[in-house]
Amino acid sequence: AKRRGRNRAVAYRAEFDTTVSRRLQLISEVRAGLERGEFELAFQAQYTPDGHVAALEALARWRHPLRGLLEPAHFIPVCEESGLIVDLGRYVLREALRERRRLVEAGRADVRIAVNVSAAQFTDDLHRDVLDALDGQPLPPGALELELTESVLMDRPGHAIELMRGLVELGITFSVDDFGTGYSSLAYLKRFPIKRLKIDRSFVQDLDADASDAAICQSIISLAHALDLGTVAEGVETEAQRAWLRDRGCDELQGYLWGRPQPLDALLPTLRRH
Ligand code: C2E
Ligand code: CA
Ligand code: CA
Ligand code: CA
Repeated sequence: AKRRGRNRAVAYRAEFDTTVSRRLQLISEVRAGLERGEFELAFQAQYTPDGHVAALEALARWRHPLRGLLEPAHFIPVCEESGLIVDLGRYVLREALRERRRLVEAGRADVRIAVNVSAAQFTDDLHRDVLDALDGQPLPPGALELELTESVLMDRPGHAIELMRGLVELGITFSVDDFGTGYSSLAYLKRFPIKRLKIDRSFVQDLDADASDAAICQSIISLAHALDLGTVAEGVETEAQRAWLRDRGCDELQGYLWGRPQPLDALLPTLRRH
């Protein structure tokens, strides 16, 4: 039994080592990929119920030289663990604002750009990162929205409020991403300078089948409106979900029903307005 235990320990150790070395390799690949410009943005629109594009959410993609186009699940976790998310986040901010200039040229200065911000990025440095990304260009109020999760807000609420206020002065707005999955109460959220709640995809998904998910969506919308906040439903995939959310006054809708996230070039023809 002792011997078998040792073999098991050896096997475990070997497996652990491969996992660790694979992770380390992935980290250095991401770092090199950032230097070589292998990352790009895909955009997904947020629509008003009558079909106008209100916003575009920027979503990171990695054009890996061997593995093809990779979605965030392949690299965001390792970026968050290693701190590389700060570098990736800077790239995403800069690139999102660069793409916004093309939107403005296409006559769509009205479309806001939404960018996801991870916990590790949400420090005092973020203000400087945003200023750097703006590169001296003015930012019309509401043109850039940062999406934060409840846990990022609730980790150090006092600090978060202070940081957000400084960014609001630059014209930035905030939304709460994946709303409903964390532990914050709406009453508490009132203290943060927030514009919008994004109802988590998991509640939208089973809207038609699950009465409690429908009740959750309904109450997020009602309470948000009572607090003067907007709502965006994530992960809208069916016509039935769209109709249900529209009928209950959800302000904006986002999901595969209108298409997968795409490069701005693919979206520009339908957005262009002269
Ligand atoms: P998220 O912020 O909740 O972004 C929405 C995700 O849901 C996107 O996945 C999008 O493609 C997907 N989605 C949109 N509509 C639907 C739908 O109708 N059905 C389903 N099943 N999924 C839908 P994606 O692009 O794979 O991004 C995953 C997550 O990675 C994001 O979740 C966000 O947390 C993170 N992420 C992406 N880009 C960045 C970034 O630049 N910075 C940071 N910090 N995180 C990012
Ligand atoms: Ca998001
Ligand atoms: Ca989300
Ligand atoms: Ca999510």
